[in-house]
Amino acid sequence: MRLPDYHTHTARCGHACGDPSAYVMAARSRGLLGIGIADHLPLLPEPDPELSMGLSDLGHYVAEVQALKTAYPGYVFLGIEADYRPHTVSDVASILKDHPFDYTIGSVHHLGAWGFDDPRQIDEYADRDIDDVWTEYLELVGDAAESGLFTILGHLDLVKKFGYRPTRTLAIELDRLVERIARAGILVEINTAGLHKPVGEAYPTLDILRRLWAAGVAITFGSDAHRPEEVGRDFAHAVELARAAGYRGFACLETGLYGRRAHVRIRQFDAADASPGRPAAGSTGASSS
Ligand code: ZN
Ligand code: FE
Ligand code: FE
Ligand code: ZN
Repeated sequence: MRLPDYHTHTARCGHACGDPSAYVMAARSRGLLGIGIADHLPLLPEPDPELSMGLSDLGHYVAEVQALKTAYPGYVFLGIEADYRPHTVSDVASILKDHPFDYTIGSVHHLGAWGFDDPRQIDEYADRDIDDVWTEYLELVGDAAESGLFTILGHLDLVKKFGYRPTRTLAIELDRLVERIARAGILVEINTAGLHKPVGEAYPTLDILRRLWAAGVAITFGSDAHRPEEVGRDFAHAVELARAAGYRGFACLETGLYGRRAHVRIRQFDAADASPGRPAAGSTGASSS
């Protein structure tokens, strides 16, 4: 499938396996368009060895992926997944600035001190108002989008991971978030890892994707692979979701000229990526040649 996977982790984070080259091999053998390694930036202010590499590993990580970029020019990209937390924004900003990342994924995994997507902290849901959890989360994602630190917003509705849904529609909050994302010009990934979590669906939902499409927000793809065999997992489904939402193309990274950092380009889906039996509904124009 001619799609890129920009969200992959490596053994350095302490809860994944495989080194970056194994992920690159997996992407090549699956015929992906390109691959980004985006391991977890050390969690600040306190790095957690079960969540990320230590700060002293960051240079090794960068060097390792840069060697792969040299070996596979234009195919491999150096990324990082950074936590968005209001009290660590300036520290994260300076780390990001000090390293030659091609792109960054911004993710919200915490509400205050609570790691709401961490299975070790799942009991906290029982003590919370779920609608408050959702609105607080969506607000932070909007802040992350507007921070200017990130290329891609990670798993946009991660807060659904364990299946805790809001009791009301949150249409106003979602519209406001999508507007903030559109104005910020940040990309949103379709992240297929959610299909393998209790919630059993990709991030974000089709409803949110429709809103993003209507607002003109570009999408990319990420498996959030934590093992090489998960690279590109369920991307056929991801394309179906994108198409159902109205998308006819996606954003991909390209190597910058003169050794500069990667830039973003929009590509159309290949005809081969169309799901069989589904008419190209909504496709504009009747240009056939
Ligand atoms: Zn992880
Ligand atoms: Fe994440
Ligand atoms: Fe991730
Ligand atoms: Zn993630």
